[in-house]
Amino acid sequence: MPRGKCRVCGREAEYWVPWANAWFCRDHYIEYYNRRIKRVWDKYFPNDPGDTLIAVSGGKDSVALLYSVSKILMEKGVRHNVLFIDLGIPGYSDESLKIVKWNAGRLGLNVEVARLEDYGFTLRDIHRLVKTRRIRRPVCSICGMIKRYLMNRYAYEHGYSLVLTGHNLDDMIGFTLASLVSGRIEDLVKLRPYVEGHDRLVARGKPLLFTYGVENKWYVEAIGARIVEAVCPYRTGESSVNTELRDAVLSVDKKHPGLAILMARNTVDKLIPRIRLPGKTLVRCSVCGYPSSSDPCGFCRLREKVSRLLSSKKK
Ligand code: SF4
Ligand code: ZN
Ligand code: ZN
Repeated sequence: MPRGKCRVCGREAEYWVPWANAWFCRDHYIEYYNRRIKRVWDKYFPNDPGDTLIAVSGGKDSVALLYSVSKILMEKGVRHNVLFIDLGIPGYSDESLKIVKWNAGRLGLNVEVARLEDYGFTLRDIHRLVKTRRIRRPVCSICGMIKRYLMNRYAYEHGYSLVLTGHNLDDMIGFTLASLVSGRIEDLVKLRPYVEGHDRLVARGKPLLFTYGVENKWYVEAIGARIVEAVCPYRTGESSVNTELRDAVLSVDKKHPGLAILMARNTVDKLIPRIRLPGKTLVRCSVCGYPSSSDPCGFCRLREKVSRLLSSKKK
């Protein structure tokens, strides 16, 4: 497609945005993107969310989240900082932390670090135990659970009211379809852009839920941000039902731009409010004291298992 002119200023454009049916120059693409995130914020988030942590891994999505949301929070005068979860992945965690610090420094923000090692193990240990089949669950699934736990615990212990993550539209589509296919309809409520906190659960937010991964990529490029080039050594690259369903919708979206956004909006605004949650109550984990659907919680069970397996290996 020949390069067009920016819809706003008429200068030579750099970005073709199919779902907006528009070309934008660099400056007006940045403006367009920031406006999109601000609209999500105004619709779903409280005006004053309280002290906020932006979880940044160094990938394109969380880096885009950092810049766009920090701008909104700065304008609102909301105190915010960056959270990096150090999982102890050799050669990857350190590299990622450097990139996160570089971006945060550009915005004058502090980076706070929650370390898995402080709980007696790292993701390297998990990877070894999975490889030797002493733990039978994919590393990435365990890693996701660990990140959610550490994020919440760190935020709670340090007095934050909200944690933001960079889940994007592509993730949202895969998760929505997989929940429908498996019949776990109540899981869809996890996709609310803002989930209020209670007890020791800090409020969580996903401001990029209606934003394609590729939009985030263009945004970080346009603002001259840096993202982690290294790939996590534990990434398997295997396709899952989630990723295959996501790719199918994104390929239809290529022919009908904006279809995925429509699906996400309808899921959040029309489907989720109709879901009646089963009266499952959370209990308090007897080990760590945090709310959980089981006692001990998943993290404490994992921690105990890893410590047992690691010490039996030493004997
Ligand atoms: Fe964790 Fe998997 Fe991501 Fe590596 S690729 S950081 S193991 S979720
Ligand atoms: Zn322009
Ligand atoms: Zn626990």
